[in-house]
Amino acid sequence: MKKLAILLSFIVIISPLKSFAADVLVRDQDQFNAALKDVQPGDAVVLADGIWRDFEMLVEGKGTADAPITVRGQTPGKVILSGQSNLRLAGEHLVISDLVFKNGYTPTRAVVQFRKNKENLANNSRITNIVIDNYNNPERFEVDFWVLMYGKNNRFDHNHISGKKNVGVTMAVVLDTEASRENRHQIDHNYFGPRPVLGSNGGETLRVGTSHFSLTDSLTVIENNYFDRADGELEIVSIKSAGNIVRGNTFYESRGTMTLRHGNDNKVMDNVFFGNGIDHTGGIRVINANQTVSNNYMEGLTGYRFAGAFVVMNGVPDSPINRYHQVDNADMRNNTLVNSDFIQLGAGSDQERSAVPVNSTFEDNLIYHKKGGDLFTVYDDMSGINFAGNVMHMVKDPALDEGFDFQKIKMRRAENGLLYPVDEALAEKGVSRNLKVTKRADTGVDWYAKTPRPVAFGAGKTTKVARGENALSMAIAASEPGDVLVLDRGDFTATRTLEINHPLTIKGNSKRRKPVLDFERSALFQINDGGSLKLENIHLTGRAAPDNSGNSLIRTSRYAMLDNYRLEMVNVKIDDLDVNRAFDVLRVAKSTMADSIVLDRVDIKDVSGAVLKLNKETDNFGIFNADYVTIKNSRFENIGEEVVNLYRGGRDESTFGPHFLMQNSTIVNSSKGGRNKSGASVLLHGVQVADVENNTFTDSLPLKVEHTVSEPVTKIFGNKFVDSGAPSVEELNSDKENTAMMKNNSVVTTKEEAK
Ligand code: CA
Repeated sequence: MKKLAILLSFIVIISPLKSFAADVLVRDQDQFNAALKDVQPGDAVVLADGIWRDFEMLVEGKGTADAPITVRGQTPGKVILSGQSNLRLAGEHLVISDLVFKNGYTPTRAVVQFRKNKENLANNSRITNIVIDNYNNPERFEVDFWVLMYGKNNRFDHNHISGKKNVGVTMAVVLDTEASRENRHQIDHNYFGPRPVLGSNGGETLRVGTSHFSLTDSLTVIENNYFDRADGELEIVSIKSAGNIVRGNTFYESRGTMTLRHGNDNKVMDNVFFGNGIDHTGGIRVINANQTVSNNYMEGLTGYRFAGAFVVMNGVPDSPINRYHQVDNADMRNNTLVNSDFIQLGAGSDQERSAVPVNSTFEDNLIYHKKGGDLFTVYDDMSGINFAGNVMHMVKDPALDEGFDFQKIKMRRAENGLLYPVDEALAEKGVSRNLKVTKRADTGVDWYAKTPRPVAFGAGKTTKVARGENALSMAIAASEPGDVLVLDRGDFTATRTLEINHPLTIKGNSKRRKPVLDFERSALFQINDGGSLKLENIHLTGRAAPDNSGNSLIRTSRYAMLDNYRLEMVNVKIDDLDVNRAFDVLRVAKSTMADSIVLDRVDIKDVSGAVLKLNKETDNFGIFNADYVTIKNSRFENIGEEVVNLYRGGRDESTFGPHFLMQNSTIVNSSKGGRNKSGASVLLHGVQVADVENNTFTDSLPLKVEHTVSEPVTKIFGNKFVDSGAPSVEELNSDKENTAMMKNNSVVTTKEEAK
């Protein structure tokens, strides 16, 4: 019957008497291409439900405004493009909808392009109700894009775009030829789902233009989209062209800022930012001329420096096109900043960036922080901004006072979810009462679930593991994400490397009488893509490891990993990793990234290699192997190489990490092995935030900090260095004195030979 139906629909298509639009159901790529050949305005080509593998779909045709050509999936959510699939469209009045890209990646530079090639673009066309979910090239640093908009008057709306993990902007509006400028595209009601920290430049979610064409009008409207945990890098949205409107979008727990990076005459209004206190969540960053920033609401943003809740940059006099143009004639009014930590004016001020904002207005803004305290950092002369009518919650010694009324403000949450002052007299300050907040459910598609939070350790079920041959490896194989495996007391031996493919906790029941786990292969655990590992109340020993060099207790997959992983060790004892040379606690591969590594109450002794060797990105492209490294209440003794080597090379400024915290820990007789080339027990190179407090280094190599770029924040407080040299902080790319805060450290020498 179905075959007959297809046949009949083809007959309709080729009939010379055809006077009405037809729906053609196609079941394979040949049928699709045949149907496209004969397609007429008003027709719809319908892809049958099922999996379409390796389908490089080209939709070329000329519809009309009244009778567009439609290509759609038969049932929303049931037409899957997988493997090496992609989509290009070229022509006029095309509408594409109801497709899902997953389980694969594009073989070309983009998943979806509004063009066939440089000469043939799509205009007046629309893509709606499509999903691109984790459609990632397996090579983390192989660049591609998910959506590239070319042509004019195109619309991209109600799509679900989530989980881009390899390098490359998720979506870009391209202005590379005349035919793509003054494009008046519409990008609305999309769900831009989580984009994890990339640990490199090239992790923006949406970019409009490039610096090269930034003085041309794009006239793109970006409205009512939802940016959900769009972390990636410093810029969530990067406007690099003129005349765009960014309106009514919600930025939820997204690190970075909506940045007016290049181009003039842009309007940013009615947007809502919820940071929920998460690190590096920012608001709006203003650069260039004639920008309007009005009626935006920012709450709970913690970002500082270029990622503040509100940032006005200094420019470069006569700036080259790719640097920073002076802020001129900026209109910044009626914005509300609530419990957001940093407002930065004249940010980036230095010898090069010396052009302060001019002819600008900052008016009727409402600024409230429950903690009080001044939120403004003023880096340069701000007399070029006219401050008027602003209201700010009580502050002692404010950096700015003219144009601000300081008073005790009481805030109350309104029905739209935003906080407003209770006092009616302040009704005209900050954002309007009728600001409509775009909600997650208003965006994307309703037939495909929005991306949940990552599975937490311990979120699954608990299973006891008795001793016995391979009991642990069988329990791991049978486990599910978030599960907890509780080991019986006594000794366990792993006869094979234990592969971790999802978040998993392995622990002993008692804090004191830890089960003992040894292993007979070159590694005990291997964290694969998607895996995360927590170890607790357990004693891990290398006593049974093979007598070869280069063993490791834990390693990442030897290949590039797309998923950032988490590694946690709590109350863990580790010893006897010294049967041969270069036996590491954690060994990572290039192109892998830990979201966090936590060592708490960990006691590590007799290791011939390193503990945390996070230095595989040696190209100096600003890439690194771990975002947050935390060591607390731990002890390291007889470690051959570094306890920590955390390396981020290069001078790129697009990332917030790495972050390092070390507290109340002890390093004894460590890092003096001949294979340690860094000359340090703890080496922090290019780390952006470092906090080293109340530790003792004894008879070990020193702590070395090397600053490279981006005004890193380094605190070295209350440490004791006994026969371990003095801590050093070096500015590698600046003549200025180092910016590290160092106090209450003591350097003690008891031995003649220790200098
Ligand atoms: Ca960037």
